[in-house]
Amino acid sequence: MSKVVLIGCGNVGMSYAYALMNQKTSVTELSLIDLDEKRVEGEAMDLNHCLAFSPSKINVKKGSYVDCKDADIVVISAGANQAVGETRMDLINKNSKIFKSIVSNVMKNGFNGIFLVATNPLDVMTYLTWKYSGLPTNKVIGSGTSLDTSRLRFLLGDKLGINPESINAYVIGEHGDSEFVPWSNADIALEPIDKFLSVEELNKIALDVKNAAYEIINRKGATFYGIGMCLARITNAILGDENTIITTSTYDETNNIFIGLPTVINKDGASKKIFIDLNEEETKQLQNSIEVIKNAINSIDE
Ligand code: NAD
Repeated sequence: MSKVVLIGCGNVGMSYAYALMNQKTSVTELSLIDLDEKRVEGEAMDLNHCLAFSPSKINVKKGSYVDCKDADIVVISAGANQAVGETRMDLINKNSKIFKSIVSNVMKNGFNGIFLVATNPLDVMTYLTWKYSGLPTNKVIGSGTSLDTSRLRFLLGDKLGINPESINAYVIGEHGDSEFVPWSNADIALEPIDKFLSVEELNKIALDVKNAAYEIINRKGATFYGIGMCLARITNAILGDENTIITTSTYDETNNIFIGLPTVINKDGASKKIFIDLNEEETKQLQNSIEVIKNAINSIDE
């Protein structure tokens, strides 16, 4: 019996809810909250009509902040989305104001579960959720570079004719323009990735991953199925106490920020980060990403 409250029932939120409906999950109650209450009613009705054919039994309902009291996970995907030509960082002031009120409403109702954040700019919104909630750092998780890692594995798998699940490669750092692939750590069946593809091919794939959101937004206005699946994956890793490694955005105490790195996810939330050995160039790239996130946090109008 596990209860999830979803705040923000737009494209991302509902793709997450639909992804949950389509897989085996221990979520038994899903409460939907959005400013658009009429839409929430319609979404709850529509999702409940999946139940006859769903592998799980989830009671979906229009919720309220009172539901946060005994929720295991609160997922936040509320807020403004990137328009064509906008970067994720351009959303910072709009979404930080929205988060102040959302997180305070959640906490006022006695929430003591795990926050899972999807709203952009992701690492900054995750940091603000931690700051506004006062919860311990392990209980606040951002989707981080899970989506970017999924995009990377798809592109590598597609090019090489290998199942993406069999590819060990990560995107780390900011979920944004400073993210990067530490290729020195990437392998397929313990063979270094550069035995399969040239440096030029690897660089092109890393660039395509970084630009994926812009390319999708140019064509269909928003991206949502990929992140919906990532959020469902993280939810199940938490509720199933799985100890699965996912590149989520979690707390980095050296820099007092949240940033995407491989992290062990279980019932405690972000249990521990896995520190990977980076070469000199990759260390510089990670440092750059840290600076980008720090500067963004410092730029917020409080
Ligand atoms: P959307 O516009 O479709 O949905 C946003 C929803 O938030 C709307 O339904 C709106 O009514 C609701 N909302 C706004 N303020 C609210 C408040 N105070 N309380 C409750 N609900 C509120 O946008 P979307 O496409 O679903 O994107 C949502 C966020 O997810 C954006 O910031 C987007 O950039 C981000 N995103 C993140 C990733 C990722 O990898 N983390 C991927 C794609 C999109």
